[in-house]
Order: sequence, then C-alpha cells, then structure tokens
Amino acid sequence: PFEILVVGGGPAGASAAIYAARKGIRTGIVAERFGGQVLDTLGIENLIGTKYTEGPKLAQSLEEHVKNYEVDIIRGQRAKGLAKKDLIEVELENGAVLKSKAVIISTGARWRKVNVPGEEEFNTKGVAYCPHCDGPLFKGKRVAVIGGGNSGIEAAIDLAGVAEQVTVLEFMPELKADAVLQAHLNSLPNVTVYKNVQTKEITGAGKVDGITFTHRETGEEKHLNLEGVFVQIGLTANTDWLGDTVNRNRIGEIVVDSHNNTNVPGVFAAGDCTDSPYKQIIISMGSGANAALSAFDYLIRN
Ligand code: FAD
Repeated sequence: PFEILVVGGGPAGASAAIYAARKGIRTGIVAERFGGQVLDTLGIENLIGTKYTEGPKLAQSLEEHVKNYEVDIIRGQRAKGLAKKDLIEVELENGAVLKSKAVIISTGARWRKVNVPGEEEFNTKGVAYCPHCDGPLFKGKRVAVIGGGNSGIEAAIDLAGVAEQVTVLEFMPELKADAVLQAHLNSLPNVTVYKNVQTKEITGAGKVDGITFTHRETGEEKHLNLEGVFVQIGLTANTDWLGDTVNRNRIGEIVVDSHNNTNVPGVFAAGDCTDSPYKQIIISMGSGANAALSAFDYLIRN
C-alpha cells in the first residue's frame, strides 16, 4: 500500500505528490489527465515568479518535477469510489483498488459551458472563463459576460476596469448576484445589462467578433459587435465520484479546514475540488503542499 495516494494530477496534485515524496514516504498519484485544467490554458501570466508560460508547457514541467522523485504515476485512470477500511481504498473505473494510509483528493473542477455555436471554436480566441487570468487581454476592448450570478457580476465589475465596454447577459428575468454587487455594477458607466435573454451564438472568423442573443419573452434577436465573451455560469467540482463518503457543500465542493482535512480522518483534499474561495494555479499549488504536510503530520501521529 501507499502511505500517501494523491488522486488528481493538476497543480494541486502535483504539488501534493512532490511535498509527500520529499518526506521519503511511499507516494502514488493517479490522474485521468496529468496537468488538469492547465492543459486547456494558453497564456499564464499570474504564476508568481514566472512572467509568462503556456498551459501545455507548465503541465509538462509539473510532470517532470514529479518524476524527479520516487512517485508511482498511474495515468489515464479515473477514480470511481473511495472507502475507509483499515486503509483508505480508492477504486478505479478499470476495477483496480489502490490502498493507502492517507489520501489527498485533488480532482479539480470544470467550467460549465453555455453550449452554443462558437463557444468551442473560439475557446481561447476570445472566449474565456477566468477574468483574473484573461481579463487584461481585453484592455480597451468590448466584452460580454454571460451569467448574472455573483461570479458573473464580479467578473463584469472587474472587467469594467480594463475593458472599454461590458455587456452582461442574464438568462433569468432578474440578476441573482448579491445586492451590493448589483449596486456597484449599476454605478459603472461602461456596463449594460440585458436580462431574460438567451445566448444563441458567439460569432467570429478566426477569433470572436460578436454575440447573438434573443429576448426570451419577445423573441427579439440582437447582435453585438465585440472582441471577448466571458462565460460565468458556474464552476463544477469533479467530486461526484465520492458520493456521500466525504462531506461536500451545496455546490459539491469538498469541505476542508485550514489543514485541508476532510471529515474523514486520513482523507485530505486540495485545490479547485475544495470549498476554497478562489480557484487559481498558485492557490492550488499552495493547497496541495498544505494537504501533503498535514497528511505527513497525520501519518507520524497514527
Ligand atoms: P485541475 O487542474 O482541475 O486538475 C484536476 C486533476 O484531477 C486532473 O489531473 C484530472 O484529470 C484529475 N481528475 C479529475 N477527476 C478524476 C477522477 N475521478 N479520477 C482521477 N483523476 C481525476 N489559473 C491561474 O492561476 N492562471 C491562469 O491564467 C488560469 N487560466 C485558466 C484558463 C482556463 C481555460 C481554465 C479552465 C482555468 C484557468 N485557471 C488559471 C485556473 C487553474 O487552471 C485551476 O485553478 C487549477 O488548474 C486547479 O488545479 P487543481 O489541481 O485543483 O485541479
């Protein structure tokens, strides 16, 4: 059996595996796609200490860094269940069962898509999901934000500081964001809000040049010329495979304390799959390190 088994090979998992292996304990990492969301990212400018890198390059260097240590890497495999017995058992979709004294869950998250024509085609060519990451690319340009919940309105306020014009598209008749965010939004001169509208298409040629939406009651269609579309309709944690074995919050994020403990002794969680408030590479790496040090502490006490 492993002493620490990490499930998930994104920034959080890679960091946890390196911190665990550096303690000289038997470490394994199982990942469906090594690199995680980083693989889907083009330019990265906010990994502190690295002025600029690109997703596939960072994913590769994460893997090289892990391989520098004695870590069993099990790739291309999905975990489908976790059970606490004498040891903690992680069952894979191929039927294999991995056993470990401690487990660190770092299965990350995925952005919800609007699923309209153009979204896939122009992904990273004007279609973006992370305002902290990609907002500065739209300096002086026109952007739309799809989604009027807290994350959509926070994104719109954030983008209004860099973009020339921000248009918010909300599917429901009212915005769902907190009142203070809405008040802030309404005070900004370069923001327009459309409610009760449905996005039909993100248009472009090589890159985004506009968005088409219809009013859900009148059916009236509108097209706006713009350069960027931020999709902000939610981030979903990849935690369904855990069922009820570990406590999760209302939106499926694993609940952790400041030591990255879950409610199950010996089971830790790190990164975007947890209820940490902000989801970023540097935060996930820190979280993975924290979880590994906590797991090590747990092992020397048990
Ligand atoms: P993830 O990166 O999601 O990794 C999860 C890992 O778990 C993957 O290896 C996955 O294959 C694996 N996995 C999932 N389910 C299972 C399972 N059942 N069994 C086994 N393995 C499983 N952040 C920044 O800081 N700067 C940026 O510029 C930036 N740009 C971004 C651009 C895009 C398009 C996206 C999508 C995200 C961006 N982010 C950026 C956010 C950043 O990528 C995430 O915060 C970070 O990758 C989270 O790391 P993680 O390790 O927690 O999860």
